[in-house]
Amino acid sequence: MTPQAELVVDLDAYRENLAALRAMAPGAQQMAVVKANGYGHGMLPVARAARDAGAEWLGVATAEEALALRAAGDSGALLCWLAAPGAPFAELIDAGVEVTASSVEQLDEILAASPRRSRVQLKVDTGLSRNGARYGRDWTALVHAAARAQSLGRIAVTGVWSHFACADEPDNSATDEQEKLFRAALDDMAVAGLEPGIRHLCNSAGILTQPSAHLDLVRVGIASYGIAPDPAVPVPGVRPVLTARARLAHVKDVEAGARVSYGYRWQAEHPTRLGLVPVGYGEGIHRTASNRAEVGFAGRRLPVRGTICMDQFVVELGDVPARRGDVVTLFGPGDDGEPGVEDWAVAAGTIGYEIVTRLAGRWARSYR
Ligand code: PLP
Repeated sequence: MTPQAELVVDLDAYRENLAALRAMAPGAQQMAVVKANGYGHGMLPVARAARDAGAEWLGVATAEEALALRAAGDSGALLCWLAAPGAPFAELIDAGVEVTASSVEQLDEILAASPRRSRVQLKVDTGLSRNGARYGRDWTALVHAAARAQSLGRIAVTGVWSHFACADEPDNSATDEQEKLFRAALDDMAVAGLEPGIRHLCNSAGILTQPSAHLDLVRVGIASYGIAPDPAVPVPGVRPVLTARARLAHVKDVEAGARVSYGYRWQAEHPTRLGLVPVGYGEGIHRTASNRAEVGFAGRRLPVRGTICMDQFVVELGDVPARRGDVVTLFGPGDDGEPGVEDWAVAAGTIGYEIVTRLAGRWARSYR
C-alpha cells in the first residue's frame, strides 16, 4: 500500500538522463553532482546509480558529504568544494577525495592538515564572486603557491575549475566573459609552469548554452534529475526522476462561504468538496505555493486552497470523485497529467532546485 506520503525516485530515469547529457558533451568526462542529499533525491542511491551509468566523477559541496560517500563504499573520483576553516582535510586526503583550494590561505590549511601528498584542484573566480581566487587579483598568487607546493611534492594539482553565474540566460554575454577569463587563468598556469590537470567550467545550463566551454569535464546537477535549470533552458531528452505523492487523509463537503486553513485565505463560492493532503512545510512544501499550486489526481488537476500548513494542506476536489485514502500526486513526470517540479517552482515563486532540495521530514522513500 502507498505510504501516507512518499517520494518515489526513478533511478532508471536518472541513469538515462546522465546518458542523454553525456551525448550533449561528447568529448567531456561527466561529474554527477549529488550534493544536498542528491538534490533531495537521496545522495547514496543516486551516487550508486551515477557510477552505474558511467559517471567518472562525483561532485559534492561539503567534506561531510564526501566522507559519507566514502563510508558508503564509493571509491571513485570525487571532488568537494566548500570548506570552512576546520574542515576535516586530513580525513578527506586519507580518503582520496580531491579538495578545492580557493586561496593561498586555504591551500596552507590543506598543507598543514596532512603530511600526505594531497590531490588539489584550484578554483578561479571568473565573476560569480563566491569561492575561488579572484582572477586578476588573487589568482596568480594561488597558482604560484600551488606550483611551489607541487614542486616540493606536497600536493598534486589535478584540476582547475570555475563556475558560471548566468549560463541559464542563453543570451547573456557574461558567460562568454567568464569563459574568456577562465582561458586567461589557464594561460597564467602555463606561464607558471603548472599543468592544469582536468579543466571544467560547465554546469547543466552551461552544457546547453556554452558548448565551447565543455572542456575536459562537465558537472551535471539539476538536468540529471530531469529538471530544467530555468524555463528558458529546457533540456531535451531528459525526464523527471522524482515523484511526490500522498494519500488523502480526509475528504469533506463544505457549504458556500466555507473558509479554509489559517488566516482564512480562501473561501468557497459554491458548495464544494475538499481533500486534505497530509504533507506541509514540515516536509519541505513551500508555504508560498498556498492558493497557487495544484496536485494531480486521475488525469485531473486539483487546486491548493488556502494556506499550506506545517503537516497538511487542502485541495478542492469539486466534483472529482476522490475518496479518503486515494493518492494524489504533487509532482511527477507528468504521465498522468500531474504538475512538474517546475510548476511548483512557479507557484512558490522559486526555482526547481529549491523545490527538490527542501524536501525533508516525514516522507517515505522508495527507489526503482
Ligand atoms: N558545480 C558546482 C560548483 C555547483 O555548485 C553546482 C550546483 O549548484 C553544480 C556544478 C551543478 O549545477 P546544476 O545543478 O545547475 O547543473
